[in-house]
Amino acid sequence: MSKMNRAWIELDMDNLEHNVSLLRSMLPPDCALMPAIKANAYGHGSVLIARELNAMGVDAFCVAELREGIELRQSGVEGEILILGYTDPEKAPLLVRYHLTQTVVDSQHARALDAWGQELQVHIKVDTGMHRLGESWQHTDKILEIFRCKNLVVEGMYTHFCAADDPEYTRLQTERFYCLTAKLEAAGISLPRLHTQSSYSVLTARDTRCNYARVGIAMYGLLSTARDRERFTMPLRPVLSVKARVELIRPVGPGEAVGYGPEFTAKAPMRVAAVAIGYADGIPRSLAGSGAVLINGKRAPIVGRICMDQLLVDVTGIPGARQGDVAVIIGKSGDCEITAYDIATLTDTITNEVLSRLGSRLERVAVRAEHRPVSFGMLQHKQ
Ligand SMILES: *Cc1c(COP(=O)(O)O)cnc(C)c1O
Repeated sequence: MSKMNRAWIELDMDNLEHNVSLLRSMLPPDCALMPAIKANAYGHGSVLIARELNAMGVDAFCVAELREGIELRQSGVEGEILILGYTDPEKAPLLVRYHLTQTVVDSQHARALDAWGQELQVHIKVDTGMHRLGESWQHTDKILEIFRCKNLVVEGMYTHFCAADDPEYTRLQTERFYCLTAKLEAAGISLPRLHTQSSYSVLTARDTRCNYARVGIAMYGLLSTARDRERFTMPLRPVLSVKARVELIRPVGPGEAVGYGPEFTAKAPMRVAAVAIGYADGIPRSLAGSGAVLINGKRAPIVGRICMDQLLVDVTGIPGARQGDVAVIIGKSGDCEITAYDIATLTDTITNEVLSRLGSRLERVAVRAEHRPVSFGMLQHKQ
C-alpha cells in the first residue's frame, strides 16, 4: 500500500465475502440479503462495497436518503435500492429517473406521493413499536388505503425492530407485523415482499417468513459493542482498516510541550511522530489521552490533542520508526491489533458511530488475497 499518500481505508473484500456467506447461511430459504449501505456503507465507501456485493449476487440494498441512492445509480450499481427515510414528494421525478424504491412513511406520505400522478415503486413502512417512521400496525384501514393508491406500486412492506437484542420485545413486534399481514390478506391483498430483520435480529430471533434481511453492521464484520461480541461469538471478520502515513519524527526534550494546548509535556527525552490523520477524518478527539496507533507492530500512544488533519504519537519505544511508515489506527500490524471495538469503548460509543463518522477525505481501497479466483458462483449459494 506504499502508493497511498496520506490516510486511507483498506477494505478486505475476502472478509466481506466471508461475512456475506455466513449471514446467508443463517437466513431461511427465500430470504435474501438487502444490505444497509447508508452513510457511505457505514464509512466503508458505498460504491466500492455495493459493486463488490453486486458481484456476489446481491441485488437489493437499502440507503437512508435519496442522494445516497442517486450516487449509487450514477456509479452503475444494479438491483433494487430502497430509500429508508422520508423523501419529499416534490422529489418524486428523481425516484423515477434513478429507478429508486421509496419507503412510504405513513398514509399521508402515500397520498402525497400518489398525487404526483406517475407510477412509483414503494415499500410500506409499518410501525410496530419503535415510533420512528411507519404507519401504525393497528391502522389496517390506512394501510389498505396505501395499497389502493393507484400510482403506488407496492413491492414491499417492512418494520424495524427497536430492541433487536431483546428477544421478547422483538417477538412482540414480529407478532404485530404478522397480525397486520393476516388482516391484509383477509381483505384480499396479495402480500408484497416482507422484511423485518436487521443484524441483531438475524442473530437472535429468526423470522422465517420474510423475503429480505436488512443487514448492516454484521456484514461489515462487527457488532455494536465488545460486550455483544462476547455474547454472540459469531465468526465475523472486520472488513475495514484505517491507516495513515508517518509524516515526520522529531526528538522532544524534557519539559517541552507537544501539540495544541497544555495537555502534554515531555517528562523525559522522547521521539514524537506526526501521523497524517485527524478529527476531520473521523478520529474522535476524545481518543487523546487513551488511544494509540500501531507502527511496525508496536503500540505508539497518542500524545497531546488530536488535530484536524494530524495526530502526534510517542515512538520513543519504536526506535525503527521512520518517516513514511504506515501507522495503523484500526486494523492489524504485526501481532498487534486495534479494533473498532477498542475505539468505541475508549470513546464511550458504538462501533456503528466510529465507522460511519470516518471522513470522506480518506481514500478507500479494496484489497484481496492475490490468487483468489473471482467468484461468480455466489448466486448459486443464495438459496
Ligand atoms: C440501519 C438500518 C438497518 C441496518 O441495521 P444494522 O443494525 O446495522 O444491521 C436496518 N433497517 C433499518 C430501517 C435501518 O435504518
